[in-house]
Amino acid sequence: MAVPISQAWTVATYVLKQKLKGRKRYPLVLMLEPLFRCNLACAGCGKIQYPAHILKAELTPEECFRAVEECGAPMVSIPGGEPLLHPRMPEIVAGLVARKKYVYMCTNALLLKEKLHLFTPSKYLSFSVHVDGQRDHHDFSVCREGGYEIAMEGVKAAVAAGFRVTTNTTLFDGADPESVRAHFDEMMAAGVESMMVSPGYTYDKAPDQNHFLGKARSRRLFRAILSNRKKSWEFNTHPLFSEYLMGKRNFECTPWGMPTFSIFGWQKPCYLLQDGYADTFQEMLDSVEWENYGAKSGNPKCANCMVHSGHEASAVDYNFSSLKGFLVTAKKYVFPSLYKDADAQKLLNEWPKAQHGPLVQIAAPEAAMAEHAAELQGVSRD
Ligand code: SF4
Repeated sequence: MAVPISQAWTVATYVLKQKLKGRKRYPLVLMLEPLFRCNLACAGCGKIQYPAHILKAELTPEECFRAVEECGAPMVSIPGGEPLLHPRMPEIVAGLVARKKYVYMCTNALLLKEKLHLFTPSKYLSFSVHVDGQRDHHDFSVCREGGYEIAMEGVKAAVAAGFRVTTNTTLFDGADPESVRAHFDEMMAAGVESMMVSPGYTYDKAPDQNHFLGKARSRRLFRAILSNRKKSWEFNTHPLFSEYLMGKRNFECTPWGMPTFSIFGWQKPCYLLQDGYADTFQEMLDSVEWENYGAKSGNPKCANCMVHSGHEASAVDYNFSSLKGFLVTAKKYVFPSLYKDADAQKLLNEWPKAQHGPLVQIAAPEAAMAEHAAELQGVSRD
């Protein structure tokens, strides 16, 4: 099982309640960004290009708890920035767990091993470790030689300590599907509970603008990767979202399903775009002109977007919107499909070998690196 039964039950009953209340737009996962600074500077990241005073700012635990209660979503994802650079992250996570929220703390795991003792294993807490593929591909993607080795040490230490550990993998143009499949094998062998894979978003602020995937290429890539899958692979994404990535079905985006709260407030309209901020969750819901977003809208910023934060909630909503949606999804869980597909196998066999250039070592922002060093010293003093 990719998630504990209690989590699946909590989410299912929550969504059903929203449906019974007739709520058209409801949140499923709160994307809580308590800080933007990071100890990496990945070429495809659109979150770390802020000036130093913004990178130094962070949400307090109380602000995080207020946002979580205001939003009411049963799951909270904590991306960033690197959450483990937040000095009060253990307090934030403990407070969310006490509120019985299912928390996915996204981390590049550079500090995970050192900070593990500050957290307590719980069914409500998963470390969602950013691993972008096998060693070379991950190091290339995060622009840091040796990053994979450190991340995997963190993964193994967390698994050994009894934590739920999942991985999240973002794919860009040049990804080698065979290598991604080998990466899945490696992650399952390392003891991770389940994996998430999603195409990167074309952030206009990202340092590398040349390797984002268009929609057609994304579908081709995901069809090669996710067809003919192994029984041992567990994914924590909704099976219909996986079919969406493979081009087997289509969903319009439902960005309110994964709303974002950060030091700026409630972000309009989604995790990826910043078309203003609202002071309250309700104000954000009421003030966004939703018809201006999503593939159908013709908004060029949405044209190539297939990301999980915009479309997985659409799959979940479809699941609960009709008997057909319910039966289709139930079938996927009771009889998980391996998606046997001879054409996809041919596609995989004939895929040109990955050709990314030499590793580009992009220096992490000075302030974040200084903080990283200070954090490490602080940890070793404990
Ligand atoms: S399509 Fe993507 S970028 Fe556009 S609103 Fe939806 S999630 Fe945001």
